[in-house]
Amino acid sequence: MKQKEIAALLNEPACKHNKKSKSGCARPKPGATAGGCAFDGAQIALLPIADAAHIVHGSIACAGSSWDNRGTRSSGPALYRIGMTTDLTEQDVIMGRGEKRLFHSIKQAIDTYHPAAVFVYNTCVPALIGDDIEAVCKAADGRWGVPVVPVDAAGFYGTKNLGNRIAGETMVKYVIGSREPDPIPAEAERDGIQVHDINLIGEYNIAGELWHMLPLFDELGLRVLCTLSGDARYHEVQSMHRAEVNMMVCSKAMINVARKLQEAYGTPWFEGSFYGVTDVSNALREFSRLIDDPDLARRTEKLIAREEQRIHTALAPWRKRLRGKRVLLYTGGVKSWSVISALQDLHMEVVATGTKKSTEEDKARIRELMGEDVNMLEDGNPRALLDLVYEQQVDILIAGGRNMYTALKARLPFLDINQEREFAYAGYQGMLELARQLVLTLESPVWDAARKAAPWDIKAGRTFSAGSTAPVNTTDDAIAVTGEA
Ligand code: SF4
Repeated sequence: MKQKEIAALLNEPACKHNKKSKSGCARPKPGATAGGCAFDGAQIALLPIADAAHIVHGSIACAGSSWDNRGTRSSGPALYRIGMTTDLTEQDVIMGRGEKRLFHSIKQAIDTYHPAAVFVYNTCVPALIGDDIEAVCKAADGRWGVPVVPVDAAGFYGTKNLGNRIAGETMVKYVIGSREPDPIPAEAERDGIQVHDINLIGEYNIAGELWHMLPLFDELGLRVLCTLSGDARYHEVQSMHRAEVNMMVCSKAMINVARKLQEAYGTPWFEGSFYGVTDVSNALREFSRLIDDPDLARRTEKLIAREEQRIHTALAPWRKRLRGKRVLLYTGGVKSWSVISALQDLHMEVVATGTKKSTEEDKARIRELMGEDVNMLEDGNPRALLDLVYEQQVDILIAGGRNMYTALKARLPFLDINQEREFAYAGYQGMLELARQLVLTLESPVWDAARKAAPWDIKAGRTFSAGSTAPVNTTDDAIAVTGEA
């Protein structure tokens, strides 16, 4: 990818903070490799396209350390779960065999798995030695008649966020608009309901949470042409240009797709979230507002009233147990505000939120929800997190899996909210699951047991203070926990 193409991707006019600093989202600091490279960003954005073969062109390390790193689910094909790589070695580099190897890898993937398409991800090594993956993909496409899409997102191009954008750009350039959608089946237009086509961009179907929303869309007569990219099929991505409205489910990833579809096809878009009762209702209302169909607006309000009543009744007993519990939320991006809204719906108190990967828009939304004096954590190293836990008497840490051991070592209840999680929290139904998981975590007897000193420590006159990871000396009869985490 040329330098000017990367610069163009970093200059994203749809980001409000773009004027202040060109795409100032999460610029990497020296040594900040844990956030993922551009290749990682591109791969996680497209990997959920379930009927495509995803080949990583590079050394084994790129694929080996990042394959299948999200809990994204498919309702059908599972080809996306097979890790494929060209496994370049020093010999291939020295002998200049990279392109040849890629060509044969594409052939092998097509012969063995008959995919709907092949996605080829460029990585640092072939980008540095100058493999022309675009030309190889074109040749393979012509030879075997299967779409072969080059995703030129070598790690050193930039951040994970840039990788997301490259993935979106690639879809706009090579895939979207290459096929028309299937006609709307007659049975879908039951009872005179007019069906409208929509897209969800940046929804990854983590733990199958998209399936909480699909029945609602179905009932309203909203056909989801494509979800980019959770539970998606290649032919769905091809027909995305025909949607009447696009919803950006994550504020950062692939915002360029929504903007470019608006420029090319006039498709309006909005940014929303499926976490929390209020936000789900707002998202449904936004669809009917942009589609501008009075009958859809009436049916949407009816559905929202029914679902809100149902879910508020179901949540009542859980809310009693969660009311007033203090939460430290340490996540990034869209979740830094969308989950606050969900937790506030459960009458919990969010004492601080992490904003390391949040955009300026995300931060504005956080202020809207929590007031101007909100405590935003830019840098969540374990010590800073734990200090805040004690200072604010936090009851639970909600964060990504990377922070799990910080919480567990401090004997603090912990809930995983990031992409590796096992439970689906989106939609009205997802709120019930979130409440259930929070209660299960907070009320687990393991915390009382873990905070007690071991018999040998008691005998030796030592106990643990909640939050510390080492025993502390105390009096002979100091058996109880010395503080609440
Ligand atoms: S693409 Fe580059 S930065 Fe990313 S994992 Fe591979 S070698 Fe590392």
